[in-house]
Parts: sequence; C-alpha cells; structure tokens
Amino acid sequence: MSWLDFLKRHEQHDEERPTRDLPIIRTGGVQSAAGAPVIGRRPATDDPEAQARRKARLEQRVLDLRYDIQRAVSALEEPNRWTERVAELDAAIVQADRDIETIRAAQPDTPGIPLPAWPVHIASLRAAEPAEAQLRIGEAQLRYVEDIDWAERGHQKTPGEMRRTEGDPDLLMPDDVPAARRDELREHLGHGLATLVDDLRERALDGRPLPEWTLADLASPCPECGGWRDLRGRCPSCQRRKWQVEALEDDVRRLRKERIDTLEEIQTLRDRLPLLQRRLADAEANAAAAG
Ligand SMILES: [Zn+2]
Repeated sequence: MSWLDFLKRHEQHDEERPTRDLPIIRTGGVQSAAGAPVIGRRPATDDPEAQARRKARLEQRVLDLRYDIQRAVSALEEPNRWTERVAELDAAIVQADRDIETIRAAQPDTPGIPLPAWPVHIASLRAAEPAEAQLRIGEAQLRYVEDIDWAERGHQKTPGEMRRTEGDPDLLMPDDVPAARRDELREHLGHGLATLVDDLRERALDGRPLPEWTLADLASPCPECGGWRDLRGRCPSCQRRKWQVEALEDDVRRLRKERIDTLEEIQTLRDRLPLLQRRLADAEANAAAAG
C-alpha cells in the first residue's frame, strides 16, 4: 500500500472511531496527559473484560494519534518525504518537457527521396471472396490474394488480409536509393502496396471508380522527417513521433497531478496538527481514566 493510500485509509478509520460517548477531560496540554488527575465518570459496566477492551481501545487511539502527530510534525520540517517527492516530480517534469521539445524540434536528418511516377496498372481485380488483385508497376508483376481464415469463415466480420503471393517489390526500388535507406523503403513499399490493394478491393466492393495511381503516390517524400508518406498521406515515422510526444504529455499530466496531490497532502497534515494535539490530550486523559 502506498503512503497515500495508507493515509487515506487511516483518515477514514479515524473518523469512524467512537469518541463522542466517551468522557472528555481537558488536561491543558499534550505533555501532562499521562499523569494528569483523572476527572470523569467510571464506565457504567463492572465487567472486567469490557473494561479491558475499552482500555485497549483507548490506548490504541493514543498510539494512533501519536503516529498521526509524528507525521504532521515531519511534514512541517523541510526537507521531508513529501517535499523530496515534489523535487523528484519537478525534475521528471522538466526532463519530459525537454524530451518533448527535442522530438518536436528534430529536423529531417535525410532529405526525402521521390520515386518515379510509374503508373500502377491493375491487370486484374476480383473483390469477391477470396479477393485477388494483380498489379503491374514498372518491371514488377505483383499478385495479392485474400487470406481467409476458413475456421472463422461465416463468423468473420472483416475481410481477410490481402497477402502478396507473387512478385518482387524490390524491382520498384530506384537505383539511386542509397543502401542505407533501402530496408526502410522496402518496408514502406510493402505496407504501401498492401494499403493500395485493400483500397482497390473496397472501391470494387462499393462500386466506386478506381483511381489512377503511380509509384510516386505510394511513397511520397515527407517534408517533416525525410521519410515517406503512404497513399493516404500518412508518414509512419511522423506517426511514431506523434505517439511518443503523446505518451510523454500523458506522463507530464500524471506527474503534475501527483505533484498537486502531494502538496495538498503536506498542507492537510500541517493544518491538522493542532486538532490532533487536542485529540491526543483528550485521548490520553481518557486512557488514564480507564486504567
Ligand atoms: Zn514524416
């Protein structure tokens, strides 16, 4: 259990304790409570067990209050565990903000490379299950077939994935793409072609016209990062950066919330000290009276 949970539970428990039916004895201060003269009525019962239980309960209350006071006093001294936590949170917030700035300010380290505008020729297209598409782009002849999970057939809500069964997308790679970027472009083209084939199938199913795409549409240079955008203008590496920033922003929100909670906790502990001291004086007197 975290200290915060512990505090909350302790607080609730404290409120539930029966105090109003006990005799209240003013002793004038915390220090004098233990040996203070006892003024008050004796418990109504003579049952020794009930008296022992009552005494134990009163003594426990004294211990609990002393513990609470110790915490409240430690909250008054600085640094304490709460101010130390606030300092940690401050440092974490500064670091996260700095990381966000670094990601946002990142300049494209490589210029975008455009691909030739070779037309995407649709040699054949069948939208009905199992869907199939044959494309010709430059030298590359590619065939995609719907991957049907036959076990799920009939229950399947979404169409099966279109998988490439023939053809070599490497033939789409211009010679001037540097070796260091070929893997990245290969991966991008793989996803880009799959997106294109999905789109073709959806258009055919809906009876919409098929657009005239070119290879350049499949991988257009991204001015933000130097990577490539897909058919729908989405750049995977920009998307990744966006997610990173969002995750960091979530962290900052969470850290700021914890910071506010911690500061409130310190203030609550400090504010309660006089009340706790009065309660302790009463509790000590009650416990002494019960003995
Ligand atoms: Zn980008």
